[in-house]
Amino acid sequence: MQRIKITRTSNSSIDSLDFNNIPFGSTFSDHMFEADYKDGEWCNFEIKPLRRLSLHPGNAALHYGQSIFEGMKATKHVDGTPLLFRPEMHSERINASADRMCMPTFPEDVFLEALHMLVDLERDWIPPTEGSALYIRPFMFATDEAIGVRPSKSYKFIICTLPVGPYYPKPVSLYADTEYIRAAHGGVGEAKTAGNYAASLYPAKKAMEKGFDQIMWLDAKEHKYVQEVGTMNIFFVIDGKLITPSTTGTILKGITRNSIIHILRDEGYQVEERLIDINEVISAAKDGSLTEIFGTGTAAVVAKVDRLAYQSDDFSFELQEDSIANKIKAIINGMRSGTIEDKYGWVVPVKSLAAKSV
Ligand SMILES: *Cc1c(COP(=O)(O)O)cnc(C)c1O
Repeated sequence: MQRIKITRTSNSSIDSLDFNNIPFGSTFSDHMFEADYKDGEWCNFEIKPLRRLSLHPGNAALHYGQSIFEGMKATKHVDGTPLLFRPEMHSERINASADRMCMPTFPEDVFLEALHMLVDLERDWIPPTEGSALYIRPFMFATDEAIGVRPSKSYKFIICTLPVGPYYPKPVSLYADTEYIRAAHGGVGEAKTAGNYAASLYPAKKAMEKGFDQIMWLDAKEHKYVQEVGTMNIFFVIDGKLITPSTTGTILKGITRNSIIHILRDEGYQVEERLIDINEVISAAKDGSLTEIFGTGTAAVVAKVDRLAYQSDDFSFELQEDSIANKIKAIINGMRSGTIEDKYGWVVPVKSLAAKSV
């Protein structure tokens, strides 16, 4: 493997960061990882000071949308060691997205090494309080400079990191939409590709105008089977059992979803992955057997749902402190700060590369 070069900034902006008040999404750390794909291979692996990119007007990603991303988080162990969470799964998923979008896969060994080196270098940017994290945004986009619908021959792969404060997600209200859809069988719903989010903005705006935070997507064909929410997978607790839609091509395979299913089963809960008819959810809400709905994803970990509307029905839910949502969130956050044992081997201490020279 080609070595990853490191060029350190001489001008860190960490002193201007107020760890108690970090604007989400717009505060970037000092460095980024960058690589290029040309002539059929990845090259120019480098960690360098965060910089603006300059783009040709013919940039293929801008016109035809070959653009994919990941979202992950580094946390700090109570002893100060930076920790990654299931990094290989993110590598696999970005490569699955790449395949679907006709983009080259990125070598897992370089991806992991770049993550370790970058997070090690930016360790002071990881906010120390539980629930805070260094958000990691790997992404890849086409860089051919020509108009024409075809797979680009050149690409850029970048990893940026952003400190994020403790996330106290407000409960979310959901509108089960029967007009707009997110993904159809045969489409790109399983890929974390930019266009999926662009396509969701208009329906989401409509739902917000109706007074809801987000859309609960239903399937594209019958507008009946529950899919997911925004950038979260969804779980229902009905008669004490957990039910979540199976991932059969139209739903993003959340790593938080996967982790939560494992943990819940080990905690003795029954978890069903299957088709869920929205009418089943509505009947369960009516007869009181539906006790919780929550979304799961890297950003919030777990976000409770306090309202769900579908056609003429509109339910509000009382949130209990002893909810399954709270319990699962405490377990995951505890694993990610080292206060709860990780028996799965998901939490990966960042290798300190201080020994290696620049
Ligand atoms: C990223 C994402 C999720 C959650 O995935 P995690 O790996 O748990 O962060 C769920 N749905 C969509 C549409 C997403 O983009």
